[in-house]
Parts: sequence; C-alpha cells; structure tokens
Amino acid sequence: MPKFTIKVDPDLCIGAASCVTIDPTHFQLNAENKAYVPGEPPDDHAYERVVEISEEQKDTLILAAQSCPTLAIFIYDETGNQVYPA
Ligand code: SF4
Repeated sequence: MPKFTIKVDPDLCIGAASCVTIDPTHFQLNAENKAYVPGEPPDDHAYERVVEISEEQKDTLILAAQSCPTLAIFIYDETGNQVYPA
C-alpha cells in the first residue's frame, strides 16, 4: 500500500474537529484541542506521521483535509510531493 505523510500545523489548527469526524483513524484531538495523527508509538503531539493506506482510505483522508476550515492539514506522497492542498 502507498505511504503518505500527514502533517497538521498546530499553529493553524483551531480544534474545529471536522477532520476527526471524517477520518478518526488519522486525526484525533489532544488536550490542547489540536489535531494530531494517532499511531505507534502513541504520541498526542505527533503532528506529523507517515501512514500506509489504501486508495479508499486515501479518499477519506483527502476529504478530511479538505474539511479543515483553516487548511491546517498537509499531505505528501512517498516522493515528497504535496498531494493536498494541490
Ligand atoms: S479540521 Fe483543521 S482546525 Fe479542525 S481539528 Fe482538524 S486540523 Fe484542526
């Protein structure tokens, strides 16, 4: 499965949580009301993480990024190309 890097800019995140609603696998809110990217090792300040996902999961991930009112979510493919915002 392809790998993508998900990055949340905590300075831009306002905790609106629409990303969490759409894709809770890849976004959760921490105690500071900032979205982080859950995974192993657990780290609620992981604002950047590489994930391996299917095409279907990728669509959900992009939808979640598009839902962010402050465009705080960035997605990069394996070669480092920015996938979102395009
Ligand atoms: S949608 Fe954007 S502002 Fe809202 S929690 Fe997610 S990253 Fe933060």
